This record gives sequence, structure tokens and C-alpha cells, in this order.
Amino acid sequence: MSYKIKLPSEPSPVAVSGVEPACLVAAFYKFVAIDDTTALRDDLRKFCAARPIKGTILVAHEGINATVSGVESDVRALIEILNADPRFSNLAVKFSVAGSHPFRRLKVKIKREIVTLGLEETRLSAPTAHAVEPEDWNALISDPDVLVVDTRNDYEVEVGTFEGACNPRTRAFREFPDFVARQLVDNRQKKIAMFCTGGIRCEKASAYLKSEGFENVYQLSGGILRYLERVAPTDSMWRGECFVFDERVALEHGVRQGHHGLCQRCGHPVMLRDEERDAMLCASCRDDSATPSVAT
Ligand SMILES: [Zn+2]
Repeated sequence: MSYKIKLPSEPSPVAVSGVEPACLVAAFYKFVAIDDTTALRDDLRKFCAARPIKGTILVAHEGINATVSGVESDVRALIEILNADPRFSNLAVKFSVAGSHPFRRLKVKIKREIVTLGLEETRLSAPTAHAVEPEDWNALISDPDVLVVDTRNDYEVEVGTFEGACNPRTRAFREFPDFVARQLVDNRQKKIAMFCTGGIRCEKASAYLKSEGFENVYQLSGGILRYLERVAPTDSMWRGECFVFDERVALEHGVRQGHHGLCQRCGHPVMLRDEERDAMLCASCRDDSATPSVAT
């Protein structure tokens, strides 16, 4: 089918002379105990720098979180060495493609959390949510008794979200516990269906909800990226595009590059229309520049 991307098990793309070969982008995370974070960081940095693989890899005592890009054979080699490590066996990887590296640099860093919720203790010892496959997601979120929660930030939700999803209006994931305290606490008995880009924020958010006494928590397995990879546009309940944290800005069905750029003034994602490609400004910055400045 036309919307399917080429997965790494298929033959390598042919490099056309004078044209940068297509990049494979791999996004993956795993919550797993890592004792020696320094050794892992150094090993990964050395391995990636020798290829070159670009992107960001975060290492913490709670696990690993990465989005990297490179030629297909390099990215596959990285996944293979990780899979050979018992800590990272069965690593679930979301693949997409890009015309060129969507990252400028390689960053391999040690963090306190691989996704920052900012809680004192990691609560991942609590059982996480029921994982829902993309193929079963529409039925779940169509159920009127289900509260659908987008765990991403406000500027991401603006670019696209699922029909009927609640936007917590957070500016950073660390604000999510406040949203729970403000708006979710009275829904402890309700079925809650959560989703995010690749699944990592849901995994942490659902562990948090469970620890706060929520009983029926569901999460979209593999996140929006896997949904857009597997569900055809005609069957889709996704509206808009999916914001991603790299130079592609947003992806559409088939996890292909979408139609967004970043505002040249404030960095906010903005839908690209052909006539606006030269002066890419978001609505609010356009308004600001249209208003003559008045001394007050
Ligand atoms: Zn702007």
C-alpha cells in the first residue's frame, strides 16, 4: 500500500549521485534499570560518531530514549548492537524516512529522567496501562464513556490530535501532574485513554495515574507514529499532522513529512502555505508585525 514506509528489513535505498541518500529515522525508548549510565553513554557516543548517526539519545537510570537518523545500514547496526544487549532486547522501534538528516548534531546525554515528569521518585514500579494496538484504537476512543487525553504539549496539539481528545494545555510534560490534580481527579473510575508521539510520555503518565488511584488506564501502543504508519487515512480518526522534534517539524499519514515549518520569530509550529514559505511567521507574530508600535 502506498502509505506504508519502507522498513529496515527491506533493501537499502539506492544513493543517487549528487543527491543525499534518504535517511532512516528511528525512534525508540525503553524503561529498564541502567546502573552504569556513563559507560552506556560513552559506548553509544563512540558507536554513533563513527558512522555518522545524528540525533539525540538520552540515558538515565530509568532507561533509554532516542530519536536518531542516518543511512539505513548505520541505523540498523545501532539497533542490532542494542538488541544484543539483554537490557534492550525486544526494543520497539518506530521507523520513518527523511530526505536528509533531520538533526544537525549527535547528542548523547545522561539525564535524571528519560522523559521529564519532574517527580521526586520514579513511579514506574506501578503497573502501566493496558496497551492498545493502533488497529483497536478507534473503537476505544469512539466509546462515549472513555475520556481521551492527549498527553503532549499545547503547541503539539495545535498541529494535530485525535477527534474528541482533551488538550491539557501544558507547555511542558512536567505540568501534567498539575493537569491531573486540576481536571482528572474526579474521573478515577472512568476509562482513560492516553496517547503521545511515540508512547514514552503515556507510559510515564499512566504509571503516574495508576499511582494516583486511577483504575482503567489505556495507552496507544507505539504512539501516534505507529498509528499513522498502520492506519489508512480513510479509516483514521487523526486530524492534522503529528508534531515531531526534528527538522521535519510534522509528519502525516504514512509517517511522511508533513506541511509545517517553525515560525522564524518565535519557533512555534506553523502550517506552510506556498505563498508564506518566504516569510514564515505564526499568526501571533504576523499580528504583532502588522501592528505599528506605539510609544506608551
Ligand atoms: Zn511566531
